[in-house]
Amino acid sequence: MNTAAVADFRTYPLISALASVELLPDQLRVQWADGRASPFHHQWLRDNCPCPLCVYNVTREQVLEIVDVDEDLTALSVHIDQGCLCVEWHGGHSSRFDPGWLRAHAYDDESRAERRDAKAKPKLWDSRFELPVFDYAALMEDPNTLLQWLLALRDSGLTQVSGVPTEPGSLALIAKRISFIRESNFGVLFNVQSKADADSNAYTAFNLPLHSDLPTRELQPGLQFLHCLVNDADGGESIFVDGFAIAHALRDENPEAFRVLCEIPVEFRNKDRHSDYRRLAPIIALDALGEVAEIRMANFLRGPFEASVEQMPLLYHAYRRFIAMTREDRFRLVKRLNPGELWCFDNRRTLHARHAFDPASGARHFQGCYIDRDELLSRILVLQR
Ligand SMILES: [Zn+2]
Repeated sequence: MNTAAVADFRTYPLISALASVELLPDQLRVQWADGRASPFHHQWLRDNCPCPLCVYNVTREQVLEIVDVDEDLTALSVHIDQGCLCVEWHGGHSSRFDPGWLRAHAYDDESRAERRDAKAKPKLWDSRFELPVFDYAALMEDPNTLLQWLLALRDSGLTQVSGVPTEPGSLALIAKRISFIRESNFGVLFNVQSKADADSNAYTAFNLPLHSDLPTRELQPGLQFLHCLVNDADGGESIFVDGFAIAHALRDENPEAFRVLCEIPVEFRNKDRHSDYRRLAPIIALDALGEVAEIRMANFLRGPFEASVEQMPLLYHAYRRFIAMTREDRFRLVKRLNPGELWCFDNRRTLHARHAFDPASGARHFQGCYIDRDELLSRILVLQR
C-alpha cells in the first residue's frame, strides 16, 4: 500500500521533533522533544490519514468518511520513522504523519491555547488612530506591499491609498488586486454623486450618519472601497469610527446594553422601484468563539423596532447609547479625501459617514465597490505561502 503523505498546500515547519510515542487503548500519546505531550485519539488519527487512498492528491481533499471505519478501530502498532509518526491499523491500513503537520493540529490544552493566542486579533482604534496610507503604484507592483495593506485591513479595518488614477473605473484595477468584486443592485462600481432621483440617501448631498453599507443583506459586504475622483464641493468630509472599539467600550461601560444589541434583532430595509431587501439581524454579531465579529448599522435603513413589551425600552436605551457613542469625539476620525485618494475599510466593522456638502459650490464624485471578507482572508493566506 502506498502510504506516502499527500502534501497540504500549506507548509508546516518542524517546531519540535517527535521523541517517543506510546500506544494506549483509546489514544496514542506523543512526547515531543521540547517536553510537550499530545494525546491523539485513534479515531482522530485514522480520520486524518493523509495517504492517497484517504485524500485525493489532485484536490488535496479528503475522500475517506470516518463512518466507513469502525468506531472502535485501534492501532495495531506505532513507531517513528525518519521523524514521522507511523501507524499500522488493525485490518491493514497504514498512516504516516508529518511531525510539523501533527504539531500544528495537536489538541492538547497547551497547543490549543497557543493557537488561540496566535490568531490575529483586531487592533482597536479611536480618534488618535495613525491611519495607514499605502501607495497605489507599490500595491500594484509589489506583492509584499500588497500583503502589508491586506494585513492592515484585516487587523485595523481602515486604510487609505494615495496616487490612484482619477479616470472613472480605475478603482476596479486595484480592487481586483485582492479578488473579484461583489456586485449589488447599485452596480459593480457605484457612483456616489448627488442625484435628483436618488434611490438612497447616499446619493443626495445630505449628512449621512455613521453606518455600514448593505445592512439589508444576509451578508454585509466585507470590504468597501470609496475612490475620490472629484471633490470641489464645500463640505463632504469623511468620518470613521471603529465599530469594534465602540462595541468593546459598550461591553465595559454598559454590559446590559451590549447584551441587548447582541440578542435583539433589528430589521434593515432598502427598497426602490425594482428591489426590496430586508434583513432581520442583531446590531452586534459575535463569532463562534464569542468575539465581536460584525457591526450592522444604518439608521436611515432601519425598520420599526419589534421586541416584546418588556424589552422595547431596553432596546431603545441600548440603541440610543450605541449611536451616542458613535458621535463621541473620542472615537471619531474625520478627514477630507482628495482626488486620487481612496478609502478601503472593513464594512462589517468600520462605520463610515459623510458630512453634508453643498452641490452648488462644486462637483463631488466618488466611486465605490465591495469585496467580501472571505476573499481578503484567502488572499492573505495565499500571499503568505
Ligand atoms: Zn489512509
